[in-house]
Amino acid sequence: MDQSKKSEFVVVANRLPVDRVTDEDGEATWRRSPGGLVTAIVPVMQRREGAWVGWQGSPDEDLEPFEAEGMTLSPVRLSGSDVELYYEGFSNATLWPLYHDVIARPVYRRSLWEAYERVNRRFAEAAADVAAEGAVVWVQDYQLQLVPKMLRELRPDLRIGFFLHIPFPPMELFQQLPWRREILEGLLGADLVGFQSRDGASNFVRLSRRFCDLKTQGHEVILDDRTVQADHFPISVDAQELITLSTQEDVKARAAEIREELGNPASILLGVDRLDYTKGIQQRLQAFTELFEDGRVKSGDAVFVQVATPSRERVEEYRILRDEIELQVGRANGMYAELGAPIINYMHTSHTRKELTALYLAADVMVVTPLRDGMNLVAKEYVACHGDLKGALLLSEFAGAANELHRAFLVNPYDIGGTKQRMYEAMHASPAERARRMRSMRRRVIEHDVDLWAKEFLEALENRR
Ligand code: ADP
Repeated sequence: MDQSKKSEFVVVANRLPVDRVTDEDGEATWRRSPGGLVTAIVPVMQRREGAWVGWQGSPDEDLEPFEAEGMTLSPVRLSGSDVELYYEGFSNATLWPLYHDVIARPVYRRSLWEAYERVNRRFAEAAADVAAEGAVVWVQDYQLQLVPKMLRELRPDLRIGFFLHIPFPPMELFQQLPWRREILEGLLGADLVGFQSRDGASNFVRLSRRFCDLKTQGHEVILDDRTVQADHFPISVDAQELITLSTQEDVKARAAEIREELGNPASILLGVDRLDYTKGIQQRLQAFTELFEDGRVKSGDAVFVQVATPSRERVEEYRILRDEIELQVGRANGMYAELGAPIINYMHTSHTRKELTALYLAADVMVVTPLRDGMNLVAKEYVACHGDLKGALLLSEFAGAANELHRAFLVNPYDIGGTKQRMYEAMHASPAERARRMRSMRRRVIEHDVDLWAKEFLEALENRR
């Protein structure tokens, strides 16, 4: 590559931060993907002439590097079989369930591992190719854990950071992985390894000691010629953007309309998740339905709106889950709905940011009950939107967000009885109590927004020299 085109700051992620869209003239263009990570990193990219290395989203397509939204984008090619084995396979059928408490049984298959290695090497080579001498490279997430080591071998001059967006499991679970040592060594190629929680960072340090025979001191893993720092950097949302959106008149009007359409019940409960077995959707719907079964809530008192974004539908586990949830919703409505008034409104669709914000505003109780979640941004988005100090958050202890949002109504989602009780309390909390809790949670989310997250990580990485 032409030396003058090389970048001082490189982000490496499974996906590029843009989606292909077709405009009115039928021309294909690229539009920035929604989401906090992209929002947080784009300004840094623009300041430092950054480049982003990632897959553009469709298989078997060769694309030259291109410019979009003020960034240089370097596409990495994935074949159909790479998508199946590296992405759907090792990333989403092996690592995802293993790192989320083996809620589903991880698949350990050598052909998947080989694809993971092969594709990680391709990403490392692409990053090595675009990075300027001494550049900072920030590798993202579980799909690319081997990249730090591979990249350091190619380019020892670089400063390499890695951030894991999902939980990092304890020894007892990680130990199952036939390639546990290779994954740890992959991560140890970085100068700084960031996790969502303190537990993730300490699991990593402990595992490096146990399976790589390395000495550690506090947050540091000591290698022959350098040390690797492990620390926690809880990710967040773009709070200001959500505040702006949630105070727009049309969004507020839409929220009122949603309440009207739902028949103005005393309580609207809301769940917004990718349709994933980690999210605890079945547990929360069971708790809600049992409130009707027990006669504590009646049709007209409360409505549950569950938005379940389609996700990973080529993975068997996800197809089964979808069927189970749809059966559960049908049964609950069959038992307790009145004509034209279902107790659960279920939508298996994506929504615009605006519609999602209106739903957040309309909801009296946001129900976020994952069985395990690295952070859970939905919980923070809901809090950021409620400048009116109305609304209550029912939050799982197993979401990273619970480490920060102490004033939520916390639940253990495995405990259906306890969840049901907390759900009832959240529905009936006084306006003063809701306001007290919401005020405290908002302080945290507004101060620790996604900009601060990126800044703190990058400062810690620069300080590694
Ligand atoms: P995960 O990364 O596991 O999907 P998070 O809660 O951390 O879970 O992030 C999900 C993100 O996707 C949030 O920013 C949320 O607003 C967005 N999202 C979830 N469901 C939908 C939907 N149906 N339509 C649009 N955006 C959605």
